[in-house]
Amino acid sequence: MIPIKNLIININKMNSTKGQPKGIYLLFVTEMWERFSYFGMRAILTLYMVQALLLDKELASQIYGSYTGMVYLTPLIGGYIADRYWGNRRSILTGATLMAIGQFTLFISASNLQNIPLAKFLMICGLVLLIIGNGFFKPNIATMVGSLYKENDKRKDSAYTIFYMGVNVGAIFAPLVCGYLGNTNRPEDFRWGFLAACIGILIGGIIFQTLNKRYLVSPEGNPIGTKPQPNVQEEKGNEAVRLGLRSYFNMRTISLIGSILLLTLSFAYDWKGNQGSPFGGADWIGSLIYATTIVVPIFIITDKTLTTSEKKHIGIIYAISFFVIFFWAAYEQAGVSLTFFADEQTNRMIGQWEMPSSYFQSFPAIMVVILAPVFVWLWTFLGRYGLDPNDFNKQAFGLLFLALGYWIIALGVKDVDYNVKVSMFWLISLYLLHTIGELCLSPIGLSIVNKLSPARFSSLLMGVWYLSSAAANKFAGMLSGFYPENGVSKNFLGYSIDNLHDFFMLFVFMSGITAIIMFLVAGKLNKMMK
Ligand code: GLN
Repeated sequence: MIPIKNLIININKMNSTKGQPKGIYLLFVTEMWERFSYFGMRAILTLYMVQALLLDKELASQIYGSYTGMVYLTPLIGGYIADRYWGNRRSILTGATLMAIGQFTLFISASNLQNIPLAKFLMICGLVLLIIGNGFFKPNIATMVGSLYKENDKRKDSAYTIFYMGVNVGAIFAPLVCGYLGNTNRPEDFRWGFLAACIGILIGGIIFQTLNKRYLVSPEGNPIGTKPQPNVQEEKGNEAVRLGLRSYFNMRTISLIGSILLLTLSFAYDWKGNQGSPFGGADWIGSLIYATTIVVPIFIITDKTLTTSEKKHIGIIYAISFFVIFFWAAYEQAGVSLTFFADEQTNRMIGQWEMPSSYFQSFPAIMVVILAPVFVWLWTFLGRYGLDPNDFNKQAFGLLFLALGYWIIALGVKDVDYNVKVSMFWLISLYLLHTIGELCLSPIGLSIVNKLSPARFSSLLMGVWYLSSAAANKFAGMLSGFYPENGVSKNFLGYSIDNLHDFFMLFVFMSGITAIIMFLVAGKLNKMMK
């Protein structure tokens, strides 16, 4: 097997005369181990809840959905604390430590199956620690990638694509290792899967802590991600704000929290009432995510220390973060409706062996790792001739490929009966097109956010980028509810879904229309960026 580092060095030699700074390999490896831990635990979590803790499937899916939503909500807090007080390095280390303790708590939970209430309690504690830890880790490691380069360095898109490859190398091996150790049909073995996830994040944290001082430096050789300096603009800024800083922040903090709570309450309110309880059956986590998605961006952009041009740049970040909600909501069907489709209507026989439906979920990660070097090459090659699409067109292409993926599968299932299984070709083509879309959109999105953020808000705005994934994951769960069940018609905003073809076409329309809008505004956004 070729060592990853050599592989990347070769990619760099191939594509850039200047290569990449060494720090990118450190961030690659750290992120790879963190994602190994995240995806490994995630792969066995629902099984653990159902098979070992004996929760019913519905409750297990709810906990799983809330967990995957919340991990993308907390980066806002982790980003804020890093920008204001701690800097990226300390935040990453804190995040890794909390996640290691969280995974270890899951290990202890799974080691106490003779006392189910205790095991359940420990599992919730473990998940909360992971959610908080991820908040400190995720936006900060992504921000550090960009800090290795000068503000407008052309290599940033490629750097984020290499980083993204780290995410997916971790994502490929994690379910295999943690699944092999933990998912053995013996409930007492789950703990070994959690322990492997714990060791993964420990390795990532230790590597990061040992090498960060040496390799994480700016192009001028200064350390990056250290404690932030007090902001000059803020110092010189609005006198009234400065003098009344304390009350200003108190007022803002109170109104921020108040608005989130109020909006959460109104979203969660079950207007039909539920047997006397006005809040019965409410999706609190979903409501909190949607409320935060609306309130926090407004609070950031109204910060008094921002200049007009900074506000314009933040506006662009908001625009792309809004568009990508539709990307991830369609893409994340992989874990829900597309898995039902793989399970019920895809012929998975390879010779005598029937491939488990869950295996399809590894396809995108494998394809990202195979295709990422091609994209690093493509962007550099096109850039050399001035032919590379601008960053916003790349986002639009991402959405377009997503729409194409759904269009292919919609054609494949047209007029196919509920009891007929179609060839794997359709699902494989869909995942291939989705991966191409993902590589146009996701790493480039991280790169845009980094390029456009004022330095003192860089990690917080990375948190906003991930916030769109939180909202999208919740939205994805809702959309998956329209997956057609034998003969029953469903209706989404007046669009009738009678069969699989209609269901997949819903995503063609959703991502196709978003792509067209993105193509239309790409030129304007690009001008605003300059
Ligand atoms: N799969 C990527 C990761 O885990 C992207 C996640 C996202 O932005 N929604 O980092």
